[in-house]
Amino acid sequence: MTRKQNKNIMSTSSDSLLCFQHCEKVNIFCFMVPYNCPICRSDLSGTDMAIPPFRIPNPLTCEPNNFSLVIKPTFGSFIRDFKRGDLLHIALSNSKSMIFEFNENGISSSSASSHLNWTNFLCISLSALPYRFEDLDEILETTKVMDIWAAERYDDLHNNCFDYVISVLNASLQNSSFKLTKLQLTQDVISPAINKTIRLLSIIRNVLDNGFFLQRTLAEPAVSS
Ligand SMILES: [Zn+2]
Repeated sequence: MTRKQNKNIMSTSSDSLLCFQHCEKVNIFCFMVPYNCPICRSDLSGTDMAIPPFRIPNPLTCEPNNFSLVIKPTFGSFIRDFKRGDLLHIALSNSKSMIFEFNENGISSSSASSHLNWTNFLCISLSALPYRFEDLDEILETTKVMDIWAAERYDDLHNNCFDYVISVLNASLQNSSFKLTKLQLTQDVISPAINKTIRLLSIIRNVLDNGFFLQRTLAEPAVSS
């Protein structure tokens, strides 16, 4: 950050996206509240804001929770490169938040301190899904020695990370007469999370480029948790 930019900034917190409204029904997104309103140019320290700055929860995390479905782009990163339709890599975490994943190297499991290839990913708690799972720890451990998840059995189309996750989830479903499909998991869980993330990423990229982003609104702030 240059000295000039620094002088224009009231707050120095840059961890998460902020949103506020000043003189118009326009959401002003930023990482740091500017001294002057980008719309009316008045000094923000001297006037009341229609909606004071509030933090927009960041859906991306670098720390998995336990018993979660974790999702990231197969190539590149959510923030930098991701766009609708890009390939996704998915995996599961156990009760100790270790990520179990299947790719061309077979099964790997990594603890919070060692999953270097997992940064800024989506983490969806399995308890938020409309299904109940049990014995997930044991089932995940068993997959490490199963032939079907050996490196040489990996196939981009027919035996990939989605097949792995679906297989583990189905093995641990309490109601064994019901089987989850790739389509269901995608439609019910992954797509809604990705759509929400894409909306937020477009705002974040605009803020990174311009310092702020203006979003005209007729009613409520459009982005909420
Ligand atoms: Zn204003």
